Amino acid sequence: GFGDFLSKRMKRSIEKNIQKSTLTNENIAETLKEIRLALLEADVSVDVVKELISRIKTKAEGGYIQEGVKAHQQMVKLVHDELIEILGKELAPLDLGKKPTVIMMVGLQGSGKTTTANKLANLVRKKNSKNPLLVGLDIYRPGAIDQLVELGHQSNIPVFEKGKQDPIKTAKQAIEYANQNNHDVVILDTAGRLQIDKDLMNELNELRKQTNPSEILLVVDGMIGQEIINVTNEFNRLLKLTGVIVTKLDGDARGGATLSISHMTKLPIKFIGEGEGIKALAPFYPKRMADRLLGMGDIETLYEKAIENIDERSIQKTMKRMFMGQYDMEDLRNQLVQVAKMDNLGGILKMLGGQNKVNEDQINDAQRKLVVFSILMDSMTLKERRDPRLLKGLTRKSRIIKGSGRNEKEFNELVNSFEKGKKQVMEMTKMMKSGKMPNFPG
Ligand code: GDP
Repeated sequence: GFGDFLSKRMKRSIEKNIQKSTLTNENIAETLKEIRLALLEADVSVDVVKELISRIKTKAEGGYIQEGVKAHQQMVKLVHDELIEILGKELAPLDLGKKPTVIMMVGLQGSGKTTTANKLANLVRKKNSKNPLLVGLDIYRPGAIDQLVELGHQSNIPVFEKGKQDPIKTAKQAIEYANQNNHDVVILDTAGRLQIDKDLMNELNELRKQTNPSEILLVVDGMIGQEIINVTNEFNRLLKLTGVIVTKLDGDARGGATLSISHMTKLPIKFIGEGEGIKALAPFYPKRMADRLLGMGDIETLYEKAIENIDERSIQKTMKRMFMGQYDMEDLRNQLVQVAKMDNLGGILKMLGGQNKVNEDQINDAQRKLVVFSILMDSMTLKERRDPRLLKGLTRKSRIIKGSGRNEKEFNELVNSFEKGKKQVMEMTKMMKSGKMPNFPG
C-alpha cells in the first residue's frame, strides 16, 4: 500500500550505513544520499527533498547525539522528526464550531469528490456525533446527483437536491432546511470539471460567498502525482482552501506528491482516502504517516483495522469465562480489542472519569497502552496467553520483546496490568457467586 515503497528503501539505507555505534560525517552523508534517492524515486518534490535532507544533515552533524542510543536508531528518530515537520506536524482537525457548519467539497471530476463527501458525512456522524446533510450541487456531470442520493441512501444520510436548479439557490435552500431540521453539518458536493476553467471557478466562488463555508476542502486524486501541487495551488489561489483530501492512496501511487503538499502549498492534508468503501477515509496524522514511512508500521491504523474484524461473540465468551473464574491473557486481549473498537475512547474515559478529571495525557496513555499491549500479546503464542505463568521464562520474555519491537518496561507493565485485572476478576466472581451482584446475562 501507500508508503511501502519508500519505507523499505529508507529503512534499508539507514540500517545498512550505520552499523557502527556513532554517527560520523561519512556515514551520515552516505545514508542521506540514499534517503535522498529514495524520496526522489517515490516522487517527492525536489524542493521538499532538499529541505528535508538539509534539516536532517544539520541536526545529525550538529551533535544531536544522545548517549547510549544506537546510531541507526538516532538516525531513524531524526528522519522521523523531520518528516513530521514536513508533513505538517499535527493533525489538522475540521472546524465544526458553527451551527450549521458548511463544508464545501471541491475538486476535478473523477477525483473522488462525491464518494468522499459521503465518507466524510459518515465520519462526522460517527466520530463527532453530528447530524449531517449532504447536498447535491453537481448539475453538470450526468448521474452525479443520483450517485450521491444512492450513496446517501446506502449509508442512511439524507441528501438534499433540487435536480438541475441553480446550485447557489439549492445550496441556500439546503442550509435553510438544515436549520429547520437540526442538521448541524451541511456538506456541499459541488460540480467538478475535467480541467480547471473559469466558469467553474466563478460558480464555486459565488457559492463560497453565498454560503460562507467553515471548510473548503479540495479532493485530489493521489494517482496524479506531482500534478497535485499545481491543482492545489490553483484552487487555493481562487477559493482560499482550508485543507486537502487525497484519495486513492490504496492504489500503487508512490505517494511522494502527497508528502509534498503541506510543505509546497502551506495547506494541511486533513484526510486521506484508501479505498472505495464508506469507511475508507482517515484523518491525516503526520506522526502516523512518518511511522509508516520509516517502516515502523503505522501501528495505530493497522490496529484499528484489525479490530474491526473481531465479532461480538468474543465478548460473551470472555464474560462467561470470567464468571467461571477463568481469566488469562487471551481474555485480556479480547477485552482490549473490544475497548479499542469503541469510537471515541477519549470521550468514554472522560465520561467515566466524572469528577476526577481525565486529562489528555491520561487518555493518550490509555490509548498508547492499548496499542502497545496488543502488539506485545500478538507476539506471544496462544499457549503463552492461555498460561501467562510461562511468561516468567527469560527466553520467552526476550523473544516476545524482540519480536514485538517493544521494550522490557512495557512488557512488565503489561504483566502487571494483567495480574491486577485478574485479581479484580477473581474478587468480582466471588462477589457474584455470593449473590452480591446480579449475574451477567447469557
Ligand atoms: P467525482 O467525480 O470527483 O465525484 O468522483 P467519484 O466520487 O465519482 O469517484 C470516482 C471513482 O473513484 C469512483 O469509482 C470511486 O469509487 C473511486 N474512489 C474514490 N475514492 C477512492 C479511494 O480512496 N480509493 C479507491 N480505490 N477508489 C476511490
